[in-house]
Amino acid sequence: MHVFDRNSNIFNLLSEAVSEGILVINKEQVIVSANSRASEMFGYGPTELRGKSLNILIPETYRKSHDKYITGYHKEKNRRLMAEGRNLYGLRKNDEEFPVEVGLNPFSLYGNTYVMALVVDVTERRKNEKEILELNKNLEQKIKARIGELRDTVAELKREIKRRKEAEAKIQGALKKEKELNELKTKFLSLVSHEFKTPLSGILTSATLIGKYTEDGQEEKREKHLKTIVAEVQHLNHILTDFLSVERLEKGKEMYKLTKFSLSKVVNEVVYNTNMLLKSGQQIRYPQNVDDAMVYQDEKIVLLALTNLLYNAVKYSPEDTEVDLQIEIIKDKMILRVVDQGIGIPKNDQKHIFERYFRAENVLLTQGTGIGLNIVKSHIDNLGGTIYFESTENIGSTFIVELPIKQ
Ligand code: ADP
Repeated sequence: MHVFDRNSNIFNLLSEAVSEGILVINKEQVIVSANSRASEMFGYGPTELRGKSLNILIPETYRKSHDKYITGYHKEKNRRLMAEGRNLYGLRKNDEEFPVEVGLNPFSLYGNTYVMALVVDVTERRKNEKEILELNKNLEQKIKARIGELRDTVAELKREIKRRKEAEAKIQGALKKEKELNELKTKFLSLVSHEFKTPLSGILTSATLIGKYTEDGQEEKREKHLKTIVAEVQHLNHILTDFLSVERLEKGKEMYKLTKFSLSKVVNEVVYNTNMLLKSGQQIRYPQNVDDAMVYQDEKIVLLALTNLLYNAVKYSPEDTEVDLQIEIIKDKMILRVVDQGIGIPKNDQKHIFERYFRAENVLLTQGTGIGLNIVKSHIDNLGGTIYFESTENIGSTFIVELPIKQ
């Protein structure tokens, strides 16, 4: 024990030279020596710790586990840092607890076993660690907040991209429509110009011939050519009406004008115009009983639909046949039927009949543009109606239009 006396030169020299607190403890857990740093650290006078139980330096709550630890440690006898990874506390004389780090070094001297404990007061370090932890926590929170903000920005950007994409799609759609409309106009104009040639040369021929039949008794021939002229002009007029109607169709629904009108007035006008196109022996039957029927619809579209259906019925039927126009008014809708005994529509072509420019294979030698029914169907659809047909080749066709007629 004397070897650890404060006056022992060797120990003094060694223990006062280091910055850590040094405690030498014997097997009975009694402090046999403490350097100045250790005494200061625990708040004791220079010689006060010597001979005291180690327990006075250990907070009450840790004493039990410490005893166990030390017993185990004496058995193993190797150098190590005490309670690595756990926080250790020392107890000062004034009962203040403070964090320490302890390194244990076992050794034997003159047949006795000791442990030299190197004690470092880590109050400052722990404080720093705590500050660092807090700083880290703050930083984490800031990062989290930033990430949140970034997420919001990304979401906003995504929404913006979606909005722009939608706008772009809209513009593309409008452009496509515009392009289609232009193509349609070009196609239609070339079709119409082509379609105008035949009637115009017919008119020219008839007009020239009329000029030649100047004699009495040639009235009948003059009459015939006049009739041809009228019919051809009617035909041209019809094509132009279709053309103007396409324009109207592309401009949208707001173009429709619903009014209350007399159905018989429209029927008479259509029948009168179609009569001029009749082939020899053809006749149109139409009801006289719609005289007082007033309907609420777009008059021009009803006229356009009926004209198309009746013209087609006459055009695609041979001489000496009958075209039957039937009108039925049920509650709030009217049903128009145009029945002919004409060439009919080949079965394979039937599904295409309402497509723009489509013409069935059995009409290719007859004048036509393939646009009339397409336009009529679009208008009827827009007005909340339907159009459909039944047809058998070489027997005849029935086209049916149903339209709402109430306000
Ligand atoms: P267009 O008569 O100018 O060819 P439409 O659009 O009016 O054009 O008709 C489209 C096609 O439908 C016609 O070309 C013809 O093949 C067929 N079609 C229409 N109506 C009849 C009908 N009453 N009888 C036979 N075929 C018809």
